[in-house]
Amino acid sequence: MRLSRYFLPILKENPKEAEIVSHRLMLRAGMIRQQSAGIYSWLPLGLKVLSKIGNIVREEQNRAGALELLMPTIQSADLWRESGRYDDYGKEMLRIEDRHEREMLYGPTNEEMVTEIFRSYVRSYRDLPLNLYHIQWKFRDEVRPRFGVMRGREFLMKDAYSFDVDQEAARAAYNRMFVAYLRTYARMGLKAIPMKADSGPIGGDMSHEFIILASTGESQVFCHRDLLEMPIPPEDTDFQSDLSGTVKAWTSFYAATEEKHDEAAFAAIPEDKRVAARGIEVGHIFYFGTKYSEPMGAKVAGPDGVEKPVHMGSYGVGVSRLVAGIIEASHDEAGIVWPDQVAPFNVGIINMKVGDAAVDGACNELYQRLTKSGLDVLLDDVDGRAGGKFATMDLIGLPWQIIVGPKGLAEGKVEVKRRATGERELMTPDAAVAKLI
Ligand code: ATP
Ligand code: MG
Ligand code: MG
Ligand code: MG
Repeated sequence: MRLSRYFLPILKENPKEAEIVSHRLMLRAGMIRQQSAGIYSWLPLGLKVLSKIGNIVREEQNRAGALELLMPTIQSADLWRESGRYDDYGKEMLRIEDRHEREMLYGPTNEEMVTEIFRSYVRSYRDLPLNLYHIQWKFRDEVRPRFGVMRGREFLMKDAYSFDVDQEAARAAYNRMFVAYLRTYARMGLKAIPMKADSGPIGGDMSHEFIILASTGESQVFCHRDLLEMPIPPEDTDFQSDLSGTVKAWTSFYAATEEKHDEAAFAAIPEDKRVAARGIEVGHIFYFGTKYSEPMGAKVAGPDGVEKPVHMGSYGVGVSRLVAGIIEASHDEAGIVWPDQVAPFNVGIINMKVGDAAVDGACNELYQRLTKSGLDVLLDDVDGRAGGKFATMDLIGLPWQIIVGPKGLAEGKVEVKRRATGERELMTPDAAVAKLI
């Protein structure tokens, strides 16, 4: 992408409304635009990151055996009356009436709808286990939308739903998602810790929130320090195998959100291993048994031919919240520092003298070669001051910068900068390409 043809509305001033660094940087870097309280447009740069995060989530869901579908954002109130949640959900639900005066709603979550799909087609234990997920916009009319996309009203969530014949099989399904979540966040460069959590209005008895530590987090959390250094299950993890060992290893250390906090258990941890901190909830997994299948009549026949309500769990990832969460975890004075895996572009090339034939030529050649090798490249080909160009590139946080100027080129060199460390190195364009691909 050439910057001269891109839409990157950088803000010079710090937006007054932004209270936390991720919100400030997302606005300044031209990633999002607020349209109403808690409702955002995703501008091209922001959308790229959102998509990359969504794709990592998708790959790990698929690896764990979950199947992607897509349910609508608008749901019918009658479906929610079946589970009894239409009245319970309260003001967080955005209720809508269509032209025929039918009561509809903008889905805050999809347990009812996915249960309706399941009961329409699945009859036998032989079709289980089944896990269906989608990555879809949700609406919750939050009392206090704030911190940008961290707590929006409209937000993008991955929500998966597991269906199993009994509690034991449902636990295995829960474990698969637990392990998939560990991998998902690690791939984004995050340390997300599974913590015992309250299951909230969704109900049930087995629940973990995945939390990243950040001073701006809205949750108070407590955990054992060793959890921050635990090894992540590898890519070749066999999701058909018994994963309870991995889950046990992670859950044997103390980790709880405020609602589930146990002072005595926490005090038993050696003092230097106690972490009491603020955290951001980036995911939440639940097992809730037959809470929806029973009232909604989603039953399967077991091997003995007897029909029983199916055991369910649900598994959410805050995809849009993660964009902000990653920035909270990875930024500096100058701006965002994207982890390689989610960066909107892998490399930014800075043309220091637009119009100079040698510099233009070298930039174009680098651009072509890097793009051909599969990297996403942003070429700053706009005539401007060096200071401004550097500031923009640092602000938008691309992992690598290649600075091309007439002086260096006269000696056959360009400068390669790693955004995270600030390290700069002079090398030939060939060496720069070899280093980055
Ligand atoms: P919170 O405690 O932050 O209100 P929640 O517990 O109500 O979140 P869940 O129902 O567990 O949310 O939804 C799954 C995930 O969706 C959460 O872990 C979070 O990452 C994300 N999420 C929930 N509400 C919002 C929101 N208003 N804006 C952005 N992401 C959200
Ligand atoms: Mg909430
Ligand atoms: Mg919560
Ligand atoms: Mg939650």
